[in-house]
Amino acid sequence: MTTIKDFIATALQESMFNLGLYLFFGIAVFVVVWIFLKKVWRWRRIQPRSESRTHFFRHDILFSVGSILLAGLLTACITLLDKWGYMKLYSDFNAYGSFWGIAQLFLLVFFYDAYFYWTHRFMHHPKIYRWVHKTHHKSTDPSPLTIFSFHPFENLIEFLPFLVLPMLIPIYWPMLFLWQTLDLINNVVAHLGYEIYTRKWFRIPLLKHKTTSTHHNMHHELFMGNYGLYFTYWDRWMQTEIKDYEKRFDDVYRKRVQHS
Ligand SMILES: [Zn+2]
Ligand SMILES: [Zn+2]
Repeated sequence: MTTIKDFIATALQESMFNLGLYLFFGIAVFVVVWIFLKKVWRWRRIQPRSESRTHFFRHDILFSVGSILLAGLLTACITLLDKWGYMKLYSDFNAYGSFWGIAQLFLLVFFYDAYFYWTHRFMHHPKIYRWVHKTHHKSTDPSPLTIFSFHPFENLIEFLPFLVLPMLIPIYWPMLFLWQTLDLINNVVAHLGYEIYTRKWFRIPLLKHKTTSTHHNMHHELFMGNYGLYFTYWDRWMQTEIKDYEKRFDDVYRKRVQHS
């Protein structure tokens, strides 16, 4: 009985926390960038002719609320499984050595990047697309309101590693939290609708492999190609990178010259 009560309490608490994240990273960022900075950042717009419509915003908010509740339930599952001893989550940084303490973050990031690329491509399969992933693609010109706008089945697919990996390998709690924070920031940048990285991005040795806002924006605009999440490696290796990608990125900065 206490377990059910605890589970419901954790699910509600996590849902409230996720709602707070959406209010800040989704709605507040939308208000600041899409409304207050609209004129000043006009040259940063990736799709100069806005394709966004009010009903897309409504759709994105509605599905985001659904995702928030589902994520609350799934996080409560992690907490419950941890309580029952099925999880290898730990709180003492030195428990598995400092090397593993740091290295696991890289492993989580690179593993999830590959996982996302292939599940994303799977969801774009013509026979599957309209049943699941189409929900996320409603906005062809995505905004920060799109960050949690997913079909529940897509939520389950993308959440699975957060549930399964801590059962298989020891994960330091703060690293799990850090990974989720980085993932959230990446998600906001990907759906910003405005390019915020420096003009010289593709000339910076390591950073140039990191996906930009333009990268994912083009995916929403054109549906095919640019499936990557954190890095562009998989799209390059699998030849799914959209041809004009770097040119479109440069176009943003060409507009700045025209506006100045
Ligand atoms: Zn997609
Ligand atoms: Zn997206």
